[in-house]
Amino acid sequence: MANYDIVTVGGGLGGAALARAMAEKGARVLVLERETAFKDRVRGEGMTTWGAAEARELGIHELVRSSCGHDLPMWENYVGPMQVLQRDIAATTPQGLPTLAFYHPEMQRTVLEAAEKAGAEVRSGVRATGISPGVTPTVTVQRNGGPAETITARLIVGADGRNSPLRKWAQFEEHQNADRLFISGVLFDGSAAPDDTVRLVSDFERGRGTIIFPQGRGRVRSYMISRADEGLRLQGAADVPRFVEEAVTSGMPGEFFDGAVAAGPLATFNGADCWVEHPYREGVALMGDAAASSDPSWGQGLSLTLRDARVLRDALLANDDWDVAGHGYASEHDRYFGVVRTVEGWLTELFYDVGPAADERRGRALGLAAEDPTRQPDTMWSGPDHTVDETMRRRLFGED
Ligand SMILES: Cc1cc2nc3c(=O)[nH]c(=O)nc-3n(C[C@H](O)[C@H](O)[C@H](O)COP(=O)(O)OP(=O)(O)OC[C@H]3O[C@@H](n4cnc5c(N)ncnc54)[C@H](O)[C@@H]3O)c2cc1C
Repeated sequence: MANYDIVTVGGGLGGAALARAMAEKGARVLVLERETAFKDRVRGEGMTTWGAAEARELGIHELVRSSCGHDLPMWENYVGPMQVLQRDIAATTPQGLPTLAFYHPEMQRTVLEAAEKAGAEVRSGVRATGISPGVTPTVTVQRNGGPAETITARLIVGADGRNSPLRKWAQFEEHQNADRLFISGVLFDGSAAPDDTVRLVSDFERGRGTIIFPQGRGRVRSYMISRADEGLRLQGAADVPRFVEEAVTSGMPGEFFDGAVAAGPLATFNGADCWVEHPYREGVALMGDAAASSDPSWGQGLSLTLRDARVLRDALLANDDWDVAGHGYASEHDRYFGVVRTVEGWLTELFYDVGPAADERRGRALGLAAEDPTRQPDTMWSGPDHTVDETMRRRLFGED
């Protein structure tokens, strides 16, 4: 018999949420996590409605909300200083939930502790160093360069994040599209931004977007999105004044930053989607960013990660043959990730292309969407449970 039913490599949101959900159902689960204490890596801190609903399905929504979460009922879009959208998110989505914000390291700690409480064994400060797929897959693990231990499982789950070494070890083919956007992010304390509202400010002339996710008590996570061809890589404390200046030039109110101080690192990431097709083979499943890291500029990664945990959990509980369950999960993953990736691609063209032709197309599309909001797929809030086709694309761009 294998040492464990499931070993997750990685105890971030994905690995920990799956571990908790499966341990709760009696599975023998081991979580391998490299870090002993989570730190700010500039990751997602605003979980959109459909992700909040997945968290609820997995039994962690209230836990995260009550320990480190902050509800954001309102969403506002601006073009420069002009408001173009004010939306009550819970009232206008089928899931009826607001955006959930949190400080990512605290959320990770909370969900990983919950996995342990549910009965999962958590080993922190250890590094997986290799795996072998197969009928009984194995993973090797080391602590601080100590002796390697080989562990067997019915299923090994790669939940090791956007640079996942595991997907290479298991020989999944990686796909990546060209970089279209860069995203820079930094945490501020002492911001005067209203603490119930996500604000997205678009600067169409420069192909920029700036977004603020308040976390309560003056803490906000702010991201700035720019076109990759600009090559704007803001990094480190010295670039924080430039980050603020760029945000304010784009139309974010200066008073949101007056007296605010950076409370974590400033870092910039490439926005290219990176994914594998069919993230399961021979006893190894990939999930979360390891399976597919979508362009963070559209804030779908946390929701996708929890969708993966829920779909994989349901497949494993529904079928004693975990090879069949793994393939079922992977097929469904291809479907919903495909929808997210397609819609993100359209929205990137619509919101970030620059020049007269882009302005003309945007003017037409946004004008028509103001009259009939159903022209814009609501995937980013309501989720990917719809089909995408040429008719939808033409309606979005006003080409019908
Ligand atoms: C700049 C930026 C902004 C973002 N903004 C948003 C947003 O607003 N909304 C949103 O929904 N999403 C956003 N995301 C995406 C979101 O953060 C990710 O999709 C999500 O955190 C993925 O979770 P995960 O569990 O798959 O991976 P991770 O959180 O990366 O967890 C992987 C874990 O695996 C561990 N690990 C790695 N290798 C090993 C190993 N060999 N052995 C043991 N442990 C290992 C790591 O220590 C880590 O804890 C953003 C991402 C970025 C980069």
